[in-house]
Amino acid sequence: MTARVDMDKIVSLCKRRGFIFPSSEIYGGLASCWDYGPMGVELKRNVRDAWWRTIVHERADVVGLDTSIMMHPGVWAASGHIDSFTDPMVECKSCHLRWRADQIENQGCPKCGGELTEPRMFNLMFQTFMGPVDVKAELSGALSLALGGPEVSGVGVAKLKEQLDRATIYLRPETAQGIFVNFENVVNTSRKKLPLGIAQIGKSFRNEITPGNFIFRTREFEHMELEYFVKPGIDEKWLDYWVKERFDWYTRLGIRKENLRLREHGKDELAHYARACSDIEYLFPMGWSELEGIANRGDFDLVQHAKASGRELVYYDAEVNEKYVPYVIEPSAGVDRSVLAFLIDAYDEEEVEGEKRTVVHLHSSLAPVKVAVLPLSRNEKLRPLAKEVHKQLCSSFVTDYDDSQSIGRRYRRQDEIGTPFCVTVDFESLEDKQVTIRDRDSLAQIRVPIEELNKTLEAKLMGETFDASPLWATREK
Ligand code: ATP
Repeated sequence: MTARVDMDKIVSLCKRRGFIFPSSEIYGGLASCWDYGPMGVELKRNVRDAWWRTIVHERADVVGLDTSIMMHPGVWAASGHIDSFTDPMVECKSCHLRWRADQIENQGCPKCGGELTEPRMFNLMFQTFMGPVDVKAELSGALSLALGGPEVSGVGVAKLKEQLDRATIYLRPETAQGIFVNFENVVNTSRKKLPLGIAQIGKSFRNEITPGNFIFRTREFEHMELEYFVKPGIDEKWLDYWVKERFDWYTRLGIRKENLRLREHGKDELAHYARACSDIEYLFPMGWSELEGIANRGDFDLVQHAKASGRELVYYDAEVNEKYVPYVIEPSAGVDRSVLAFLIDAYDEEEVEGEKRTVVHLHSSLAPVKVAVLPLSRNEKLRPLAKEVHKQLCSSFVTDYDDSQSIGRRYRRQDEIGTPFCVTVDFESLEDKQVTIRDRDSLAQIRVPIEELNKTLEAKLMGETFDASPLWATREK
């Protein structure tokens, strides 16, 4: 592997190969908003699927959920987000850029060195209005009333404020609250006992003061969150369990151990709801930064929602004939931040026969395309068999077909999008009904009968080593 890659190379690869584009690009883009292209959408899906498989499908103690992005505003008052989901913000008195005070190392503005204002707390939740309230029109109406005369304006403005308050809702800044408010529904319908996990993947929105570093910190992103409810008293054991599980998940999917580390939060940096928290950090190009947080939220959320809603959010434990409010352990990861870490860790530049090769060694379960069928040339004679091979493969694997440009350029494209295997159909194939499989990582090639192709690729994608194939041995004879 080469030295650590810088972010510009990743951004450029993502644009060049259709992983990620700047949002609304033809209008000049929208700050820190990104669109996933044909390769990116597959990679992102694979990350989500890998998480869901491990967290939900492979376990008997976790169920899934998909809750609404817009929720009753009372949820955010009870959860503490309206009062406490804030970051300290400072503004440069010279250039007027705004910064997160806790991310500034020196005293001055990071851009121009200017003097900064005192920090004020800035709430990160996006607000909007639900229902037929035309805020702009009504505000300007109120303003003209206000300018028209004091008596009328007082009534008008107060009425408008009341109307706006009633219509104000928030875009969720985390998916977790959708889980807590459904705790009763899930327990009553799933017939599961504690410990019980409820998992959710979905969009979250945060009006970050300083978004940036590509898709690392954006204002719209996707969360993968598990709320794992346990009996109080055994919560610390489960926190340790989930920290290890989640760390291992990243390494199983190809992230190198030396690029991951754990960081336990000090008591002074814990979020308002947390009893304890550990971050899994990844060595991003800008330095060690959070990839996932695993928190012990205690009974904070269920107690708050019970108080605010008047519902009794408790669990009846038949084994001890006792009711209690469970504690919750929360592994909370970002889909986009994981996509970035997987891409960075997989990126490599190497020299092959005097030429530079850029290759993305994505784990085969994450690779957007698993197999590419590449006829040796565009010769008409090769096309029917190549198309037939493509058809045979594409019902089992995400398969690409490419017959444009030279075979060398086509291999390079597949290496850059991380395709584990290329299948080449050549003139010999027309005679012997065999094709060549090329391995992305070792560049080794084996020739296999077309009728054995699916089985061979399946075994290779499941991790069978490339040159250990019995078919390879057959060919050598
Ligand atoms: P940070 O300290 O980086 O702001 P956080 O501690 O507020 O993150 P959590 O609320 O614990 O983040 O969210 C869990 C995970 O969600 C993070 O580890 C990250 O992967 C992802 N995440 C959070 N905020 C963003 C964001 N603005 N853009 C992209 N991903 C994010």
